[in-house]
Amino acid sequence: MATRYDHSRDGLTELLARIDPDLPRYRVDQVWAGLYEQLTEPAEWTNLPKALRAELAEHLPTALTPVTESVSDRGDTVKFLWQLEGGSRIETVLMLYPDRATVCVSSQAGCAMACGFCATGQAGFTRHLSSGEIVEQVIRAIRRAREVDRRVSNIVFMGMGEPLANEAAVWASIERFHHDLGLSARHLTVSTVGLVPGIRTLTTRPLPVNLAVSLHAANDELRDELVPINRRYPIDTLVGACRDYLAEKGRRISFEWAMIDGVNDRPSDAAELAAICRSLRPGAHVNLIPLNPTPGFPTVGSPLTRVNEFRDLLETLGANATVRRNRGTDIDAACGQLAAGQPVVISAR
Ligand code: SAH
Repeated sequence: MATRYDHSRDGLTELLARIDPDLPRYRVDQVWAGLYEQLTEPAEWTNLPKALRAELAEHLPTALTPVTESVSDRGDTVKFLWQLEGGSRIETVLMLYPDRATVCVSSQAGCAMACGFCATGQAGFTRHLSSGEIVEQVIRAIRRAREVDRRVSNIVFMGMGEPLANEAAVWASIERFHHDLGLSARHLTVSTVGLVPGIRTLTTRPLPVNLAVSLHAANDELRDELVPINRRYPIDTLVGACRDYLAEKGRRISFEWAMIDGVNDRPSDAAELAAICRSLRPGAHVNLIPLNPTPGFPTVGSPLTRVNEFRDLLETLGANATVRRNRGTDIDAACGQLAAGQPVVISAR
């Protein structure tokens, strides 16, 4: 059954007509405002007749049942665990910074991309999320941020799942964020493992969202091992798709690079990565992060001194790079740690 944030405005109009064909047209606007401006429950929409509120509560079910909420960084990082229709579980992370507040959303329950160093990949794929299940994560996070007088300014598709494997639902949610929640496309980031057909689809979409690519290795031999989908879409093909995205949107791209001790943190890795960055116009930005611990991957993150040296080397070689601060490691809310309590399959290597 469609949940409350799955409906388009036309869909909602049809739903209201089914509930009562004689309803005035402005009821649709009132319901839409309840969903996207007040962000409240149907029972609270007191500008509607009571009987209609009761009908709406029944026909517009919520998608997310709260399971737990964990807090870290003195309240600045909040991780939500939700249960979905059918029983699968997902997580959402709200991160409060001095100058912005970011919601990290899940696009799938689990993930099929099987990156060995990522807890979501270790747990495997359960199912796609609907656009309503994606949107409601943000609605709930906005409500939570409001409790501490903060406004959500950014959304990143960096939670569980591969957003470009579920592009249609992800795109429908992006339209809601941009058009109905006042979060402009420039503040929305889609992060991908490198699904080239998905990047190509995104290139044809009308809004200029930010693209982040989880690169982690800049030669095919290493990337084939770290990010298995690289065997299907090798680096040259992937960088070609990135180049076309940049040409179309005129935005900077970012490369995510989880630094793994002795694996992808050598000077030769920096040189290969810098060469890729220099080949892209208007530019690429590298986000470095020491690999976070996950139950199914033996190798640890690079020491911070090496991370900083790697960044300095990239800069010297003409590539922009920042070392990202880690959030919520103690509550398993950091990059690559979201498993929603799933048992993890320990890989053989
Ligand atoms: N599937 C998409 C969205 C997930 S984003 C993607 O791959 O981009 C989550 C980010 O965290 C990705 O960049 C991912 O590669 C990175 N990541 C995964 N495991 C990690 C770990 N153990 N430590 C640090 N980053 C990790």
